[in-house]
Amino acid sequence: MTTISLTRRRVLISAPGVVDIVEEALPELSPHEALVSLRVAGVCGSDLHGLHGSHPTMKPPYYPGHEVVGVVERIGSAVDTVAVGQLVTPEPTLPCGHCKMCSTGRSNICANLEFFGCGFREGGMADLFTVDASRLHVIPEGFDLRLAALIEPLSTPVHAVRLAGDLIGKSVVIIGAGTIGLLVLAAARAHGAGRIVVTDVLESKRRGALERGADVAVDATAPDLAATVRAELGETADVVFDCVSIQPTIASAIDMVQRGGTVVVVGVPAKPVQFPLFELQERQMRLQGAATYTREDYEESIAILASGAIDAAGMITADFPLERTADAFAAAANGDQIKVLVTGAGVTLGR
Ligand SMILES: [Zn+2]
Ligand SMILES: [Zn+2]
Repeated sequence: MTTISLTRRRVLISAPGVVDIVEEALPELSPHEALVSLRVAGVCGSDLHGLHGSHPTMKPPYYPGHEVVGVVERIGSAVDTVAVGQLVTPEPTLPCGHCKMCSTGRSNICANLEFFGCGFREGGMADLFTVDASRLHVIPEGFDLRLAALIEPLSTPVHAVRLAGDLIGKSVVIIGAGTIGLLVLAAARAHGAGRIVVTDVLESKRRGALERGADVAVDATAPDLAATVRAELGETADVVFDCVSIQPTIASAIDMVQRGGTVVVVGVPAKPVQFPLFELQERQMRLQGAATYTREDYEESIAILASGAIDAAGMITADFPLERTADAFAAAANGDQIKVLVTGAGVTLGR
């Protein structure tokens, strides 16, 4: 076991737009917790909203880092599910375990949910952090750090795809070819989707979607986007995944499914969006929210990644050491990057 210092560096989003690194004493380890050292942490779209004060729930000051891979350094006296030295990734949702949702297999929408790295007292962008050991998944042999860093980000699309229902042979549209959109594409393919059209405003993102298995990528600025997409599908869409969730994307999603279809809202809406209820009722459409994931989604995400379906090296486009987290956030805000990582002390990914 490595010698552990008594202090740690932590990233703190101290005010809107401000990424600070603070030095603090290590927290006490309670009996059910593990102390984990950071290997890599992904910068998520929600971190960028949080940094700029535009996330509905993650408001500064907070400790970021919920897409985290690390090594167990110590375990509390009651922990028997993980061992010191194991490479792990936390499921960052921290459900209460006893509300109606928790007792019916829907802990992701726990009525008392706390979220590691999203307003909780601990986050993963730190040299060392504590986390309830029951939330840790042991990373299988053969996963490098880049592949492991995609387990959490892929779990959200896996959950969204599962909520959409049977996708085998279905016509699917994915709005937005950012990180989440590309991972929805991978999850929809894994679930047997038929024709998949991806839309994005950026040419580089559309190219990225085509390289990763989209049948067609359509410019989201096209004059009649929904008609163009329906023409490319050869029919109306059975399911549209809105990974952007702004007024124009919801409007075109409704237009793309037209009748009897499902719109899954995957992206976090940063602003209020209006939805035409009449169309929903009259055309018998389904509007489905998708929030994070459950343990099964994590397990499926690990299985998809283990199958080699996703080129992790091609998805992780930049990395920065912990002390340069501000640069990592700035890079992640740039449309050219897919997934940007922050690395823990002594970790070099090489490329
Ligand atoms: Zn995330
Ligand atoms: Zn609960």
